[in-house]
Amino acid sequence: MTASPLSSPDVSRALHSPVIAWFDEHARDLPWRRPEAGPWGVMVSEFMLQQTPVSRVLPVYGQWLARWPRPAALAAEAPGEAVRAWGRLGYPRRALRLHGAAVAITERHGGDVPRDHAQLLALPGIGEYTAAAVASFAYGQRHAVLDTNVRRVFARTATGVEYPPNATTAAERRLARALLPEDEATASRWAAASMELGALVCTARNPDCARCPVAGLCAWRLAGKPPHDGPPRRGQTYAGTDRQVRGRLLAVLREAVGPVPGALLDTVWEEPVQRARALDGLVSDGLVEPLAGGLYRLPQT
Ligand code: SF4
Repeated sequence: MTASPLSSPDVSRALHSPVIAWFDEHARDLPWRRPEAGPWGVMVSEFMLQQTPVSRVLPVYGQWLARWPRPAALAAEAPGEAVRAWGRLGYPRRALRLHGAAVAITERHGGDVPRDHAQLLALPGIGEYTAAAVASFAYGQRHAVLDTNVRRVFARTATGVEYPPNATTAAERRLARALLPEDEATASRWAAASMELGALVCTARNPDCARCPVAGLCAWRLAGKPPHDGPPRRGQTYAGTDRQVRGRLLAVLREAVGPVPGALLDTVWEEPVQRARALDGLVSDGLVEPLAGGLYRLPQT
């Protein structure tokens, strides 16, 4: 690991101004960043964006907010409607979790997304990342918001390595807290700006260092960009996996108006053992409800 020029707090602060100034000029105009999105729009976007690119999220986000502009509107519908509206965003348990959060917000908080980080974290389906992101982006609070893009930017600028570890470590959390500006408004801006820098400039495969506002401070670049020597990075294989089979099974149920016979689900994938395993997984995850007579539907309760 390369010694970082950012080890002292004074120097680490040198990152803030250039990254925030770059963000002021280059941030994308995304609907969840507009004032009218409100905390619910921010929360919906954070659920959708966690494992899905912006371009795929945009249309589903728009339809979702048009149909369910408030948490109570979503909470009033069956969870299966959330799964249906999730469409092809992938990782559909996120739809169930968002529905569960909407129910809890309606029951415990009068239908308003709570402002308090601990109350956000106490909602079902909300983990450390989402609680911090909503508190920071929707309410302008001071929290370390560590998504994949931010972790990569910090790995390169401060730690001097090309990629962060596969799973977030305590050391990364400490570093993120150490890099957080002191005042709330700047910290919130910094969280959004460092994330955008990772999304647009310091990308995983082709970082555009010539356009980077902190190229002169970046430990990895200054060390000559040593190649990754940690454990192999997790791939995103999809074809042939249970995820693909689950996606096909759910697509049939999303498009059906009522319950679907198991025989129709059998047509989506030839290999019976994998198909059965995928369907069992969907049922145990609460994404599919088995009915009498060999019928299946999206969850109604
Ligand atoms: S200089 Fe290059 S590697 Fe370093 S933060 Fe900027 S874009 Fe990323």
